[in-house]
Amino acid sequence: MLWSGWGDPAKAAELPPPVRRLLADLLGVRAPERPAATFGEVRLPASALSPLVLSTLSSMVGGEHVRFDDDARIRHTRGKSTPDLLRMRAGDGADAPDAVVLPGSHAEVAEVLRICAEHRVAVVPFGGGTSVVGGLVAARKGFAGVVALDVARLNRLVSIDAESMVAELEPGLRAPQAEQLLAARGYTLGHFPQSFEYATLGGFAAAGSSGQASAGYGRFDDLVVGMTVATPRGTLDLGRAPKSAAGPDLRQLILGSEGAFGVITSLRLRVRPAPAVRMYEGWRFAAFPAGVAALRGVAQEGPAPTVLRLSDETETMVGLARPEELGTLTAEPGCLVIAGYEGTPGDVAYRRERTAATLSEMGGVPLGPEPGEKWAHGRYSAPYLRDSLLAAGATVETLETACFWSGLPRLYEAVRQALTASLGSPLVMCHVSHVYATGASLYFTVVTAQSEDPVGQWESAKRAVNDAIGLAGGTISHHHGVGRDHRDAFALEIGDLGVSVLRGVKERLDPAGILNPGVLIP
Ligand SMILES: Cc1cc2nc3c(=O)[nH]c(=O)nc-3n(C[C@H](O)[C@H](O)[C@H](O)COP(=O)(O)OP(=O)(O)OC[C@H]3O[C@@H](n4cnc5c(N)ncnc54)[C@H](O)[C@@H]3O)c2cc1C
Repeated sequence: MLWSGWGDPAKAAELPPPVRRLLADLLGVRAPERPAATFGEVRLPASALSPLVLSTLSSMVGGEHVRFDDDARIRHTRGKSTPDLLRMRAGDGADAPDAVVLPGSHAEVAEVLRICAEHRVAVVPFGGGTSVVGGLVAARKGFAGVVALDVARLNRLVSIDAESMVAELEPGLRAPQAEQLLAARGYTLGHFPQSFEYATLGGFAAAGSSGQASAGYGRFDDLVVGMTVATPRGTLDLGRAPKSAAGPDLRQLILGSEGAFGVITSLRLRVRPAPAVRMYEGWRFAAFPAGVAALRGVAQEGPAPTVLRLSDETETMVGLARPEELGTLTAEPGCLVIAGYEGTPGDVAYRRERTAATLSEMGGVPLGPEPGEKWAHGRYSAPYLRDSLLAAGATVETLETACFWSGLPRLYEAVRQALTASLGSPLVMCHVSHVYATGASLYFTVVTAQSEDPVGQWESAKRAVNDAIGLAGGTISHHHGVGRDHRDAFALEIGDLGVSVLRGVKERLDPAGILNPGVLIP
């Protein structure tokens, strides 16, 4: 993973000259005055951990699993939001942890937490490091240092209960590794977020993740039937049955808790048979509201496809055009729906036929498999393009929200207006990314010219969007989580009483407050 960007440097995407010209003409994008910092130019604070803490941690997990070299510290600094990348590109390593600790078992995780609580050292649980909400930056004040607790060594497929279709997997498995291990036994999780290549199972559970195939397989929460969690006060072992009436479901308290309540050390997850058939196709709707109505029809009438998403007019135009056509297209492209089906041949045929009937009844025009296959082929490529756009002087960032169907048009307009009012004339694209019988999520991508202070520029736009989402009745996040970036908006969403409930839980599980301080709970 690139320390100041996304993914495998070999997959870096070059911006075609027509795109560069368009960015300049349409958005006023100019190349940044200063080149991005090199690895050696990153300014790191001196490691604050005492030799006593370092040696105690080393004697617990082994010296080679406690790292405080620049490489380890820089690679565990922040996550992968655009402000995170802009700060790294500016050489700002101020949020680096003092050390990175890699425990190899649940017992070692528990011991690391005990040692850190005793010495008042803050602990940031670290999975794939792909958080986009500031979930990996601990507040330092009042602590004797910060360690990143990287779960990379907890990376086994522990067992499969074939009768129940439940697999026990460790949290440090990255999604492709997990899929490979399961595929060898004929199964899949079906969880394919855009961060698939690098994010981990523990991170999915801790951040409330949702994959691109959520219409068919469900969100990651829906897959979790059990988990083991190490906390500074002991171990939580949760989940004896798919559902239970034995009081409130404590699994729900850990899902989305972003490392603030404990470290997930094992997950019991629902698995499905690996699909024999995968097919994706495109549909065109004349306008976004018509497409939204059609998706609602499919989600409410069922059966659901595996993938169902709808791009608005702008996103459709940018996605469909070849680089040399961008900015010259005059024909109304309408709005593109991608419908995908995974499963047995019979099941795919049945769901496809039923979905097609609803989509065409609601005014959709079938475009055949080509747009669907193009989408499937490029589904993980956008983050690489972001790096090239940042280097060219454009800020590109994404954000997401959700609400009930009746509020969706208002929410869509509110976010677009907030972005436009705060950024001048940005390019704002949106798609309906996840659908339910009762509502849906909206995923926005915005591109604008970088100002002299691109981080400040984005932060003020994001504040305006957060306010707009709150006023329009949306949730501050459907699947990216809260982190530090959404903490205040989240507090408004759940109210003072809600915040005090979470504080109470935190106090009980983590009395010294060492776990991810400053994240999730104000
Ligand atoms: C390019 C890009 C595309 C993305 N696309 C999607 C998408 O399609 N869908 C989606 O849902 N998200 C997406 N995300 C957001 C991100 O990938 C998810 O939030 C993901 O769940 C984070 O997983 P991770 O392993 O990288 O976790 P990290 O970033 O390492 O951690 C995320 C949070 O969980 C905590 N944590 C991590 N592991 C544990 C653990 N074992 N126990 C307790 N706490 C833990 C961390 O402290 C942090 O607060 C995207 C991000 C990027 C950069």
